[in-house]
Amino acid sequence: MSLDFSRLRIGQGYDSHALVEGIPFFIGGVQVESQFGAKGHSDGDCLLHALTDSLLGALAQGDIGQWFPDNDEQYKGISSRLLLERVLGSDRLPKFSICNVDITLFLDRPKIAPHSKAISRNLLNLLSLQEGQLNLKAKTWEGLSGKKDLIAASVTTLLVLD
Ligand code: MG
Repeated sequence: MSLDFSRLRIGQGYDSHALVEGIPFFIGGVQVESQFGAKGHSDGDCLLHALTDSLLGALAQGDIGQWFPDNDEQYKGISSRLLLERVLGSDRLPKFSICNVDITLFLDRPKIAPHSKAISRNLLNLLSLQEGQLNLKAKTWEGLSGKKDLIAASVTTLLVLD
């Protein structure tokens, strides 16, 4: 079977949130033990927000803020996993299969390495992917001033329309 390149779509998503003390930290749908959590209208899961935006980008369907406005009370404190699941299950989208997802996180704390397997496993599950179709990397801000209270995520997703 040959691949129809005209059906390939690539999408890019970026998100950032402030890290503040004393709130739960959700990243990639996993709650990680941490003194600092990401502040947001939802649960602040910037990885899932960037991932959702990469899918919407690939499908030319706008962005997560248009789908779920952050001034809408119904999304206050909502699990970002639910938002992603709503997008994945939406009949507004054409049918597609994900080829692969590449993720880079930027944060100084907490350390992601001890949690990266659990996060990857959760994302594979959420997206119904196999190992080898998703890669998770984490970088620090390399001492850039003013960045230590910031988390950011960049996600690239390649998919093929059915
Ligand atoms: Mg966000």
